[in-house]
Amino acid sequence: MSLGIFPTSEVLFRGGIVGTSIAYYLSRHPNVLGDTSVYVLESSYIAAGASGKAGGFLALNWHGPTTSSLAALSFKLHEELATEHDGEKKWGYRKLVTLGIDSDPNSNDGVETVPHAEWIADVVGSVEPLGDETTTAQVHPFLMTNALISAAQDSGVNVTIAKAETIVRNEETKEITGVTAVTRSGEILTIPATDVVFAAGPWTGTITTQMLGEKAAGGAANIIPSNRSTSIVVSPPESRELTPHALFCTLVLPDGSHGQPEFYPRPDRTLYVCSAGMSDQTPLPEYAEDVVHSEEGVRRLKERLRIVVRKEWIGDVLESDNFIRQACYRPDSSKTHLPVIGKIGDGLWVASGHEVWGILLGPGTGKVMSELLLEGKEKSANISSLRP
Ligand SMILES: Cc1cc2nc3c(=O)[nH]c(=O)nc-3n(C[C@H](O)[C@H](O)[C@H](O)COP(=O)(O)OP(=O)(O)OC[C@H]3O[C@@H](n4cnc5c(N)ncnc54)[C@H](O)[C@@H]3O)c2cc1C
Repeated sequence: MSLGIFPTSEVLFRGGIVGTSIAYYLSRHPNVLGDTSVYVLESSYIAAGASGKAGGFLALNWHGPTTSSLAALSFKLHEELATEHDGEKKWGYRKLVTLGIDSDPNSNDGVETVPHAEWIADVVGSVEPLGDETTTAQVHPFLMTNALISAAQDSGVNVTIAKAETIVRNEETKEITGVTAVTRSGEILTIPATDVVFAAGPWTGTITTQMLGEKAAGGAANIIPSNRSTSIVVSPPESRELTPHALFCTLVLPDGSHGQPEFYPRPDRTLYVCSAGMSDQTPLPEYAEDVVHSEEGVRRLKERLRIVVRKEWIGDVLESDNFIRQACYRPDSSKTHLPVIGKIGDGLWVASGHEVWGILLGPGTGKVMSELLLEGKEKSANISSLRP
């Protein structure tokens, strides 16, 4: 890739849903003139982290007052993006019904069968609606993030696979002039930049502290990795249909402990399963592509899957190696538990800490960041409680 010196340029860290959405909306902003270049710097590959391995569940009204405006904008933008880029086909966007399942096989509660969803096993306990096609939807996050970056590249955004290392400044004025980055083969690159947006998911706190020092990193320094989260994706036998029902479950397990698995059947006929509350403190590696799943995590997910899904839909897939096992880390916001979006210094910005809602909030964050960068203030959503 050849790098030019441009009068103005934005470098965005990194190729997760947040950095990709910022690049996408910058590339479409009316104030982007011929002399503005947008770079996405990604150390592994696009959507190598949580943005490629999340469930992809979207909810309109599950949010508190501080993020409800950004969530409403994002939910709307997801639909608009799907319409504009054929997201139904390209990244499995669809609206769906969401159910809460509470199950305790030892209780005296009656047995409930979920209507119109044969794949869900009978529940000893309760089933309640949590959302319908007007309030909940889903995407395949890896496919969506990659489709967005392709659309951004078609509009001139540059993508470089290298790990950002240092901020380069003019020795006299101290203004930012670029970012150095190193490829995995050791090549050192300098990318010209006037503005740098840190959107490095769970790496944001470490990277901003290393590159800027803790004080200058400000609110960005508080973004830390969550525990490692393992997920699996299984394919039921061809003849078995999965209906569009997302499930949030609270289960009493055979040993008396509780499990909180989530199930997302996808239009590609696969079933994604992850679970809250499976503590796994394996530290975050330096590169997203080096994150590996936990075998214990897989074992627990299989156990939960066998309780919630009828065995005809599982077949012998769990005994084979024929399903996806993966893991990722959320960007947690250790001080506020809210995303952190805005300016941390001259030419320095942060957009991270989206915790469990980064796939939903990615597009809205991209849109408001494009407004902040190119117009000086956000217009599309109220993010006043989310400033660094
Ligand atoms: C199991 C699980 C399920 C989830 N399900 C959902 C869901 O259903 N709905 C929802 O809305 N959210 C969900 N989330 C949350 C969501 O996945 C995250 O909030 C979101 O993906 C964060 O996106 P990001 O772009 O901030 O970070 P990431 O996706 O982590 O991207 C950061 C990128 O930065 C790169 N990077 C890091 N350091 C550098 C560097 N120095 N130089 C260059 N690049 C660098 C990394 O390689 C990575 O690709 C889930 C999370 C988990 C863990």
